[in-house]
Amino acid sequence: MGLQSMKPMLKAAREGGYGVAAFNIVDYNSARAVVLAAGELRAPIIVQVSVKTVRFWGPAAIAAWMRELCADSPVPISLHLDHCKDIHVIRDCIAAGWTDVMIDASHKPFEENLALTREVVGLASYAGAGVEAELGQIGGVEEEKRVEDADAHLADPDKAALFCRDLPLAAFAPAIGTAHGLYKGEPRIAFDRLEAIARRTGLPIALHGGTGLSDDVFRKCIALGCAKVNISTQLKHTFIDSFVEYHAAHCEYEPLKPLGAQFERMKQEVMEKITLFGSCGRAAACA
Ligand SMILES: [Zn+2]
Repeated sequence: MGLQSMKPMLKAAREGGYGVAAFNIVDYNSARAVVLAAGELRAPIIVQVSVKTVRFWGPAAIAAWMRELCADSPVPISLHLDHCKDIHVIRDCIAAGWTDVMIDASHKPFEENLALTREVVGLASYAGAGVEAELGQIGGVEEEKRVEDADAHLADPDKAALFCRDLPLAAFAPAIGTAHGLYKGEPRIAFDRLEAIARRTGLPIALHGGTGLSDDVFRKCIALGCAKVNISTQLKHTFIDSFVEYHAAHCEYEPLKPLGAQFERMKQEVMEKITLFGSCGRAAACA
């Protein structure tokens, strides 16, 4: 089915009450693990990339890997730019054929956030790309900067309704108490707020900070309207650990072997999450 915007995938997921997994990849091997896992389970999938990873490889190289990986895939696959504050990077990714972008102006005052999001929606729509926007501030580590707990604040349902009123967003990311990175204690999710925001905006909600949430919390968030479920930190840990552990166990210098072990471990974890989020066999629903 090839590369396509997450917008119809997420609309179908919100209506069907399941979640589409969005995994942050860092290279070709991780992208391949995510795409092949989704293909095996006939699940729609979002391959997303942080700004620093885009700067490392370049948007055209990543788009080329993805086109090659998606050519024979039986499922719809989105190539999405995660948390971006720089409109130049957004333009470059859209020009290179990326299907979706996230403008994160959540650190700015409400009106500025709205104006910048509106500008990005305008330029994305020319290319048929979808847009995700954030309101409130999600805590934890983002692009090597930590949003301290005191600075992380939850999105307000009235403001969320106002923000989304005239914006045809593919996904909306309100801060609801989840955090990026690893949780220090038990995460406190504001389910009542999530429910109100999902109901009042009617949009597919993006759940950030997925690593470390329990299966029950995932199921509850998805039932309340989270149609896009992000997993980043967990896959990064698996990426490093699987390579290092293979080498520690075998101590040989044949790079393709630890790469193979790394691929299998990532693919397995991606398949577990897709199954948990309920998107197995849903590829046809998004066409
Ligand atoms: Zn995030």
